[in-house]
Amino acid sequence: HFADVARVPGDPILGLMDAFRADPNPARLDLGVGVYKDASGLTPIPRAVKLAEQRLIETEQTKSYIGGHGDPAFARHLLELVLGAGSALLHDDLAGATQTPGGTGALRLAGDFIARNLPGRGIWLSDPTWPIHETLFATCGLKVGHYPYVGADNRLDVDAMLAALEQVPVGDAVLLHACCHNPTGFNLSPRNWKRVLEVVKARELLPLLDFAYQGFGDGLDEDAWAVRLFAAELPELLVTSSCSKNFGLYRERTGALIVRAETADKLADVRSQLALLARNLWSTPPSHGAAVVAGILGDAELKALWADEVEAMRQRVTSLRSGLVEALRPHGLAERFAHIATQRGMFSYTGLNPTQVQRLREEFSIYMVSSGRANVAGMAEERLAYLAEAIARVCD
Ligand code: PMP
Repeated sequence: HFADVARVPGDPILGLMDAFRADPNPARLDLGVGVYKDASGLTPIPRAVKLAEQRLIETEQTKSYIGGHGDPAFARHLLELVLGAGSALLHDDLAGATQTPGGTGALRLAGDFIARNLPGRGIWLSDPTWPIHETLFATCGLKVGHYPYVGADNRLDVDAMLAALEQVPVGDAVLLHACCHNPTGFNLSPRNWKRVLEVVKARELLPLLDFAYQGFGDGLDEDAWAVRLFAAELPELLVTSSCSKNFGLYRERTGALIVRAETADKLADVRSQLALLARNLWSTPPSHGAAVVAGILGDAELKALWADEVEAMRQRVTSLRSGLVEALRPHGLAERFAHIATQRGMFSYTGLNPTQVQRLREEFSIYMVSSGRANVAGMAEERLAYLAEAIARVCD
């Protein structure tokens, strides 16, 4: 009976959003929620998306179902965006994309695939990671383990990460953030990616690269560097790609699970299983967002416009990062918070502790997650002095 159903607490980040909205202080600042915002605080629809949508309205012939793997044009263009236009893997049919409802859908499909088709394999997540990773893979029935990522001093600890991965059971899956680590913003350097790759090879691990922020770190191609390295060097790989952030398509639920296999025949086997799993999850994926992405990436002019818009978002976030560190300088805190400028992506593990985060909220109406994670895109150039002043006060 429903009488036996207990209530669980809501998502803490959504609760933070509610508290922010209810805050009457005109100086309030929302650094909590995980979406990109422009200078006016809006999560914009890129112009390239608007134009592709207009074309779609004119040309779309039917709303009948698309296939289990989604729109083939979307898959083709997304594979080129992720793996590189000239990728030999695409030429040799060694990689395929299955369209999913967002990056979350791709993660769920990957988790179900591992649980169902690679029995006995656990999955290893960075500590910390995006909280949904924790619950999603557990829901798939996978055994979830953790490898350290950030030390107590709020620095990336690659040695501890590698030491832990060397102990992972042979053949297990390991989730890696392809770029713009959420929640910390700490990225692996190329040298450290190569060290991770060596351990992955030695222990025959199955990497699952979560690629939710392509274009937000160092650039569209630059951010794909690790994905392309792993895809070239390993016979088997899973990549979850999300179009939520870089196309601004959040609510259209647009993403894909990309599989790299050793032979074209094996890829077809794996894809047959993915179609079967997807059939039982969402049947067929939603069309609109993927049709928009295919319309943009398949048109040179729209693609160039879109790439410029992604670059503008990326530059806004990077300049806010260095701007905040500069604003902290007069308070003598530039060195202490220098990592904010070198982290990448929307998020920053600031190093502020839960008490400081609470004081920021109560005394300054500045909202961030209690872990000290701030969404840098929630900042605004003209608010950096206020934010720096508040940080200085709670760091006293
Ligand atoms: N992975 C990570 C690390 C994320 O931060 C997100 C979005 N917050 C996703 C995956 C999934 O995004 P979506 O399902 O909205 O495409």
